[in-house]
Amino acid sequence: MLWLWLILACLALLVVVPPLVAAVETWAGRSGPADVGFFTLARAVAGTCHVPWGRRGSPVVRFPLPFAEGRARVLRGIGGPAYTLEVRAYQQRSFGFSARVASPPTPPARWHAPGLAPMSLESDATEALGFCSLEATDERLLRWLLRHTETRQRIDSLQLDTNAEAVEIVLAGRLILLRAHAPRGIEPGGIMESMAMPTIEALRLLSDDLHDLACALEDAGEPMNLSVQCRGCGTRLGADPWVCPGCGHAMHRGCREMTGGCADAACDRAPDAVPAVLA
Ligand SMILES: [Zn+2]
Ligand SMILES: [Zn+2]
Repeated sequence: MLWLWLILACLALLVVVPPLVAAVETWAGRSGPADVGFFTLARAVAGTCHVPWGRRGSPVVRFPLPFAEGRARVLRGIGGPAYTLEVRAYQQRSFGFSARVASPPTPPARWHAPGLAPMSLESDATEALGFCSLEATDERLLRWLLRHTETRQRIDSLQLDTNAEAVEIVLAGRLILLRAHAPRGIEPGGIMESMAMPTIEALRLLSDDLHDLACALEDAGEPMNLSVQCRGCGTRLGADPWVCPGCGHAMHRGCREMTGGCADAACDRAPDAVPAVLA
């Protein structure tokens, strides 16, 4: 009789197991409702959405810009607002200076690119921004950037346009980084739907202007020697730089803190790196 029971048990398993496996696969591979906003944004910016293996961390939306590669993701805030939208442009050319613009005003960054110092603009200056704090390694170049009316207006209204609690713009040689801290209660998918587009529009303007600046600097004969330059800010490395274990490129330690990690778009240690198999 035992063999009969064994055959019956095998038949039962044959019937039950395949649908069970299919159900588990569907559940595990499914994009939850939280991710829909990422895919919607990817479509809107002609980009692609990459969901990390094992679903740890935020999906990353990659999108092309004329002179850079753009990426967008959502970070969980530490002790502050619930989530932060972060968009980056990895520029093709270094624009030769670093800066930080924060709205509302914040104290200067504790870890920063060498030479980054607070600056102020007279409220009646053409470059003046509203309620924000400014830091720059080269005041002259930040002023040049802010003289572009459309870009300045977009920066000025970014907090309002995104409805963010606070926004921060970091320029670091070849990297442009915009962070918008979302109000509590908005989930990552919703952040992508409501906050990402205006932020990417600002990123696009900054990327184009800073590419123009990079070209002008190259034409003017500014020295560009990648072997002694920081990957973050593009200026000369000092003693004891941080060396990325992923790509071997060196950065100032302050630049690494300011940019949140390796500033090389192709490096798998970049904070918003996408799986190499999908790259
Ligand atoms: Zn640096
Ligand atoms: Zn790296």
